Parts: sequence; structure tokens; C-alpha cells
Amino acid sequence: MTSKSIKPVKHKPKPKRAPGFSTRAIHAGYRPEPVTGSVIPPLYLTSTFEMESLGKYRDGYDYSRSKHPNRVMLERTVASLEGGRYASAYASGVAAVAAVMGLLKPGDHVIASESIYGGTYRLFERILRGRGLDLAYADVSRPENIERAATPRTRMVYVESPTNPLLRLVDLRAVSKVCRKHRWLHAVDNTFMTPVSQRPLSLGVSIVIHSTTKFLNGHSDSLGGVVVTSSKRLADWLHFLQKSTGAVLSPFDCWLVLRSLKTLVPRMAAHERNARRLAKFLDGHRKVKRVIYPGLASHPQHSLAKRQAGGFGAIITFDLGSKQRAARFLNSLKLCILAESLGGVETLVSQPATMSHAFVPTAEKKRLGITEGLVRISVGLEDVEDLEEDLQQALAKL
Ligand code: PLP
Repeated sequence: MTSKSIKPVKHKPKPKRAPGFSTRAIHAGYRPEPVTGSVIPPLYLTSTFEMESLGKYRDGYDYSRSKHPNRVMLERTVASLEGGRYASAYASGVAAVAAVMGLLKPGDHVIASESIYGGTYRLFERILRGRGLDLAYADVSRPENIERAATPRTRMVYVESPTNPLLRLVDLRAVSKVCRKHRWLHAVDNTFMTPVSQRPLSLGVSIVIHSTTKFLNGHSDSLGGVVVTSSKRLADWLHFLQKSTGAVLSPFDCWLVLRSLKTLVPRMAAHERNARRLAKFLDGHRKVKRVIYPGLASHPQHSLAKRQAGGFGAIITFDLGSKQRAARFLNSLKLCILAESLGGVETLVSQPATMSHAFVPTAEKKRLGITEGLVRISVGLEDVEDLEEDLQQALAKL
């Protein structure tokens, strides 16, 4: 055997493992600050940035509305968690929804899922319809309804999954298949699930929206929104809209949400642990007419929930049968807090018909099943025994 015939063994380079979800929640947005080594990023309270010389900006930082270091850190982190390439952060969840709708032109047609958040419905009906956007609502839990609702001007399908407050699910993969076929945008409000449990971009969705006010920030002390996409074309237009319309998230809010994202994984696990236990408790209670929670086998889309998401979330809706009974129950709670919003460490309860969905016309609420006997509970991180005791004593008053 000559030395020529000896072939060196080729060592395949080990494929580089991408950092895991929890690691990215903590580290994806930034490294310790290089001058002092500060582990926590500074809060850059500045509206503007010194130019290096005329016409030369440092890394594109010219004015805080266009680009801001705290916002960049947050946007990078949320993009990474959703598995997207780009993100843009806004002053509220509704501002994020408005930015996404800013991708459309007058005359464009949008198919939205029924029973969406009341504030989104108000934006669609009171602002965007008047500006020439053609909006239709369909039960998109059946993907065949989408093509039925389409027109030659359809440009976007907009969904929440689960919906607020009825917790109906949408088969995101099936809907995105229809959207791809027709080259429509597919936007999903992922506020209820968070990327811990559901990553719509991985199911073929083109745009993901969050109200960071809810679980992403999780401490009920900041209002914000974010949009994630992997399309450079959409991201560039969203960034242009962000700086041109100006509803950007403030540096302090960016700092707060970034801080909160570090504990998103353990928080969501604990939220859901408590929610599963309370859903079972409510389901077995004789004073409760019906419990809607995707984690219960009785939920009509329980198998889709298991297939599509890595969890069931921490929002439970239940029916007490009448306005009077709902009011009595809500007014009797001692620990759970009667308030708008959801996703905080404290358990918040609400009556969607008169609170988050007050704007939706009565007939429409009736058609959808958003009755005044419905109560929505955003399960917090208190000891679950204390929560159960509180619900028990309030139910005992009925
Ligand atoms: N999307 C969903 C599902 C919501 O529940 C809400 C608010 O409750 C929003 C969007 C709007 O977010 P914000 O209140 O941050 O504007």
C-alpha cells in the first residue's frame, strides 16, 4: 500500500447546536455592557444620538423614534423567541395591530376570525373600515370558511388563537396553507399563548402580533406591543411605519419587558399549572354551567390544542348563567382582582361582555355567545389553594 492510497479520515464538523429557548429568553438581546461590564443593560434615556461626523451615524442610531438601543434589545429577543428574523415594538398591543393593518391599502379585503379582542374589533370597525379597508368576519376554525369569505381583493387573514374570550382555536397550519396558496398575508395575535407554547411562524404564518402588556411583560406594569416576521419586505415596511407614525415603545417599557422575558418560561409553566388545576375545579363545580379551557377534554378542539401548541395557556372562561350571578360572584372575590387585562402574576377576573368586549354590538355578542354570564379568569402565580378557596367562597354566594 502506498502512502498515496491512505486517505485521511474526514471528521465531520459537529453541527452547531442553536441555543435553547430559555437561554435565548435571557441572552438573545444583548451581552453585558462593554464599558463597565454591567450585566443588566443600561436604560438609555436619550431622544437623540451624537453623529460621528456629518452624515455618519453610529450603527444607524440617529433619533430614538427610528432606532433605540433598549428597543433593539427587546425586538431581537422577541424575534428570536418567536423564531422570526425581525421584530418591531409599539406603544401598545393595539398600536402593533394598527401597524400590521398599515401594511394594507384602502380597498383591500381582510378576513378576521370571529370573537377577537374587543379593542381590535373597535379599531377594525370604527377606524379602519372608515378608511376604506373592507373587513369580513368568519368562523376560521373551519378553514373552508376562509375561501368562502374571500373576494378578489382579499389580502390578509387575521386571527387570534385561542380567541378572546371564547377560547376557540384556529388550525394555524391549515389556515396558513390556504393563505400561501392565494399569496395572502396571515397575521396571528399570539398574546394568549406566548412563544413558550405556540410559535405560529413555524406553522407557516407570516406575521405574529403580541400585546406585551400581557404575559410577555407579565407584571401588569407596562403597556406595549410587538410584531414579528421573517420577511424582510414586511419588516422594512413595518419599520418605516414605526418611525413615520411614531407609536414606538418607550425605552423604560422596553427595559421592563426585556427584564420580564428572562422569566417567561418558568412563569408560563407556573401559570399553566395553576390554570389546569382551577379549570378542573370549576369544571366539577355544580354552580358553574360550563367551563371553556383548551386543556379540558371537553373543549371541542382539545386535540387540536394538543397537536398545535406546547401548552394550553392560563386563561379560563366559564359561564355562571346570568348577569346577576356573574356580578355576585365577581363582587364576592377577595383575592382575585376584578380588572381589565390578563397575563399578570396576580389573578385577574373580568366579565368580557361589559369590559373587554363592551364595544362589540349586543346582537353580535349574542350571536357569538359572549353572554353576560361569562367570566374570564387570567390565572396568576399565587398559591393555587388560595385561589381555589377564593373561587369556592365566591361561588358559595350564588
Ligand atoms: N390582543 C389581545 C388578544 C388582547 O387581549 C389585547 C388586550 O387585552 C390586545 C391585543 C391589545 O393590547 P393592548 O391593551 O396592549 O393595547
